[in-house]
Amino acid sequence: MAFLMTERLNWSAPDELEFDARVISAAPREGITEIVLDGTAFHPESGGQPCDLGLLDAARVVHVRDDEGRVVHLVEGAAPPEGAVVRGKVDAARRLDHSCQHTAQHIVSAVALRDFGAATVGFHLGEEASTVDLEPALDGKDALLALEDAANREAFVDRPVISRVVDGNDRPRCRRDAAVREGEPLRVVEIEGLDVTACCGTHLARTSQVGLIRLSRTEIVRGATRVELRAGLRTLALLRRLEDLTVSLSASTGSGPWELPAWVEAARAETRRLAAEAASLRKEVAGYEAAALLSRSRICAGGRVVAEIVPPRPPVALRELASRVVARPGTVALLGAVWEDRAVVAFARSAELSLHMGDVMRSILPRIRGKGGGRPDMAQGGGEDARGLAAAIESALRLVSESSHV
Ligand SMILES: [Zn+2]
Repeated sequence: MAFLMTERLNWSAPDELEFDARVISAAPREGITEIVLDGTAFHPESGGQPCDLGLLDAARVVHVRDDEGRVVHLVEGAAPPEGAVVRGKVDAARRLDHSCQHTAQHIVSAVALRDFGAATVGFHLGEEASTVDLEPALDGKDALLALEDAANREAFVDRPVISRVVDGNDRPRCRRDAAVREGEPLRVVEIEGLDVTACCGTHLARTSQVGLIRLSRTEIVRGATRVELRAGLRTLALLRRLEDLTVSLSASTGSGPWELPAWVEAARAETRRLAAEAASLRKEVAGYEAAALLSRSRICAGGRVVAEIVPPRPPVALRELASRVVARPGTVALLGAVWEDRAVVAFARSAELSLHMGDVMRSILPRIRGKGGGRPDMAQGGGEDARGLAAAIESALRLVSESSHV
C-alpha cells in the first residue's frame, strides 16, 4: 500500500530538522492526538533507535511510531486539524545524540565483523548508554579493548557516511539485510571503505563526528557478548561522572586517586581485624553479664529463673546471652531487649529441665504483637510493640513459676 506511506524527509535531507507538511489525518485518543502528515523529518522508533521528539506547530510530539510505512506522531496539546499545513521542528540535541550513538554502533558492528567475525545480533539505544550484542561472544577483556581501539581508529579516519534509498531489486551486498516487501524502497547506509548495511535510523555525516567511542561492561546474553557503548558527549559525561566519583572518594578518604585501591584493601583488613576483636570482646562481656544476671536470679518451682530486660542488642546476641545463662544447670532464662524500636525475646532452659520454652514463648507473643517459636530448650521471638515487653517477661515468669515441670 505504497500510497499510504509517509514521505521520509529525514532520509532525503537528514540535516533538515524543520519542515512544513500537510495533516493527512488527526485522530484524538485518550488525551493525545495521532497525526499523520504527507511528509515528515521525525524518525519513528525502529531498529533499536528511539524516536525523535519535538513540535508540530505548538503541539508537543511525545512519541513517533512507524505504522506499516505511515509515520504516526503522538502529540499533546492543541493538535492541528486535518488539512492544515503545520511547521514541524525536531529536537536537534536529541537527534544529534541519537545519530552519534547509532553511527558509532555501525562502526563497532562493522569492525567486530571484520576483525573478530562477530555479527551484530542486537542493538538498543538507551537513555544513558546503548548496548550491542555480538555473536559469537568476544574472547575476554583484551578482545573488547582491541575492538574499542580499532573502532576509534576507524572513527578518526573521518570516513563519509552516505545514506541512500534504493529500489528493492537493486540492493547492494549488506552487512545486515532488512526484510522489504515487493515495491518498497530499501534504505542503505554506507560508511565509505568500511560498511554497507540496511538501516532506517539517523546517522552523522562523517565518522569523526562520533568523537570518542567507549565500550564497557560486557555480559553474556544468550551466547552473545553484550557490549555497553557510548560515543561523543556521552563518553564525556561518563568521564566526568567517574572523575567526580574519584575526587569525592579521594576527599573522603584522604588518599590520592591512584592510591584508592590500596586504601580500600587496608580498610578491609582493618575491618576484619576489628570484627574479630569485637567478637572476642562480646564473648568476654557476655560471660560477665551472664554471671551478673545469675547473681540476681530467683528460685521458684525448684529451679533458678533469670527474668530481665537487658540493654539493647540484636536477636542473635540476646540468644547467645540466654544460652550462656542456662549453661548453669537448673536455670531458666527469660530475656527481653529493645532493638531498633522492636521487642526481641529469647527464652531458654538448661538441658536437663523439661519445660517447653516454645510453649511459654507462644503464650506471651500477643503482648508484644509478635511472632516467634522454637525448640523445647530455646525459643526466640520479636514484636512490633516494645511497650509490651515488661508485661511479656512478667507473664512468662508467672507461667514458669506456676509450672511444675521446671
Ligand atoms: Zn543505522
